Amino acid sequence: MTTTHCPYCALQCAMHLEPGPDGRLAARPADFPTNRGGLCRKGWTSTEVLTVPDRLTRPLIRKDRDSELVQTDWDTALDHVAERLLALRAESGPDTVAVFGSGSLTNEKSYTLGKFARLALATSQIDYNGRFCMSSAAAASTRAFGLDRGMPFPLTDVGGAEVVLLAGANPAETMPPMMGHLSAPTLIVIDPRRSATAQAALNGGGVHLAPRPGTDLALALGLLHAVRVQGWCDEDFVQDRTTGFETAWEHAAAWWPERTEQVTGVPAAHIRAAADLLGRASRNHSAYILTGRGTEQHTKGTDTVSAWINLALALGLPGRQGCGYGCITGQGNGQGGREHGQKADQLPGYRKIDDPAARAHVARVWGVDPHTLPGPGRSAFELLDALGTDDGPRAMLLLGSNPLVSAPQTERVRERLASLDLLVAADFVLSETAAMADVVLPVAQWAEERGTMTNLEGRVLRRNRATAPPQGVRTDLEVLSALAVRLGQPPQRFPTDPDTVLAELGRASAGGTADYSGVTPHRLASGEALHWPVREKEEPTPHLFLDSFAHPDGRARFTPVPHQPPAETTDTDYPLIATTGRTMGHYQTGAQTRRVPELHRAEPEAYVEVHPDTAARAGLATGQWARITSRRGHTRARVRLTPTARLDTVFLPFHFAGDQAANNLTNPALDPTSRMPEFKVSAVRLEREPAQ
Ligand code: SF4
Repeated sequence: MTTTHCPYCALQCAMHLEPGPDGRLAARPADFPTNRGGLCRKGWTSTEVLTVPDRLTRPLIRKDRDSELVQTDWDTALDHVAERLLALRAESGPDTVAVFGSGSLTNEKSYTLGKFARLALATSQIDYNGRFCMSSAAAASTRAFGLDRGMPFPLTDVGGAEVVLLAGANPAETMPPMMGHLSAPTLIVIDPRRSATAQAALNGGGVHLAPRPGTDLALALGLLHAVRVQGWCDEDFVQDRTTGFETAWEHAAAWWPERTEQVTGVPAAHIRAAADLLGRASRNHSAYILTGRGTEQHTKGTDTVSAWINLALALGLPGRQGCGYGCITGQGNGQGGREHGQKADQLPGYRKIDDPAARAHVARVWGVDPHTLPGPGRSAFELLDALGTDDGPRAMLLLGSNPLVSAPQTERVRERLASLDLLVAADFVLSETAAMADVVLPVAQWAEERGTMTNLEGRVLRRNRATAPPQGVRTDLEVLSALAVRLGQPPQRFPTDPDTVLAELGRASAGGTADYSGVTPHRLASGEALHWPVREKEEPTPHLFLDSFAHPDGRARFTPVPHQPPAETTDTDYPLIATTGRTMGHYQTGAQTRRVPELHRAEPEAYVEVHPDTAARAGLATGQWARITSRRGHTRARVRLTPTARLDTVFLPFHFAGDQAANNLTNPALDPTSRMPEFKVSAVRLEREPAQ
């Protein structure tokens, strides 16, 4: 039996893997603080992904864009990739090669990918799909507290609170075992939908506030207004541990509940009641504010999270036991993935790439001259959108990501990918993006290799190998090492053993914000709770900020944030708002979960949640196929009449591809700080699918 962690979300539930009667690995839950012996249906069925019928076991290559992918051997595939990359680089310079990573990669792979880009390719053009995940919360946390660790407290603390406010998070469907931590507190759920979590809040005597999509920031300002006017501000905390309250208040002063109701649609009485609920619990230092993608994936996502943090600071929650602000990370290694250098603007240790001291430190560990390290590159969507353009990359290497489904405005991304001279994908199946590649490299999966992940609490975990990969398959580390050598790097610079990489990652991160220098295989195996920073011979703590925040003066910052409307508005042609999210049965782009028979049977196709009156106006009945059209494209989805839906809003899950892809609709307008696209607000119209 092998004990390890789930391949999917950031809860990183622990599980035991052992062969069942048919000889295939089966998963059952293990006891661990985040899942407490529970798994969701994705976790229970996770081993099926290891043996999907279309698993790739040989590299694939195509002669030219018009020919089919055919099997080849590793040397031919890697030689071809290296030759083409070197030729393109000689013609157009190092930035002609782009790298696109993932928040699902282990810490060791994330680190090696960043190093590979900066040394073997010498390119600045690297970013990853985590930019689409929680970059807004990361930016807002950094500016408020001086660092970003999704939850600066252990999840087990949350269960002891009197009140938890969840803004744009739906853990009842996305990470069900987390609800075990939310059964005792009274919940205040902010979500345009009556999600399963919102329903759980109502069932438990809590509150569901359903703002018009794109107005979360106004609602947070309205709650801050109500909290202050109703006497719940923690004046001593604000005075002693923060700066900037009065400037931030200038933006909240005009958001009295009735005005907030006009913009958000949330009744003023409900805003006052929620403020009282939150205020009373905060007096006892017993409330948490947690944000998720619903409130973060906006062109004002960073400011919106800042507004929630301002509210938490006014209530005196952060930096104390029993209360606080945190972000519920989504992807399995969403936290670690952004700490080790696969972000366009960062080096390992969560260091800024344009900081001379950071460059000198990392260059020393890598044994290179800091002046040879490239500077910051383009963010994820900007990188995808530049592919094949006059001054954009002509080649891209993709690891563990499926941007043809996860990025906004699918058709534009497809055109850009198709315009590349060379697309190389490392994957274990032909995902929608891998199917467009010129070379596909078959790689090992979660239970077939060792590595570490960092969960939503900033806790570093060990994933263990439970089975050998299929014959012919290599690990991502082996692929990067083999390519690096072909690109002229010394082999010892790109080790393939995860423990060796972890040790080097520790040295590279030492002294940085996310310090892993004390993470060792021995400490991981002992089960020690390694919430970063983890330094040698120091006992790490799951609680950050209890004495001071990470800014030089030790104080947290209020950020003045005005409400602004979404990037696009509705009109007579596009009268509804489409918003997107996850469902119980699927994970991210569905590349894994759509291949698991039980999950596919439960949720085989895209659906659209529509209020019955809205559906009737479009001539639609439940079960019919609808066409949903935005200013960028259209998609199709099966109608689910949903009496609790807002009349002006439809909801679509984003796990489906092709003509059922929700991201055919979404808006690539970006947050100016985090560069997060506006996934959550698209103006659309709803019609019957013409084929019916
Ligand atoms: Fe746990 Fe998330 Fe895996 Fe479900 S998908 S078992 S919640 S880690």
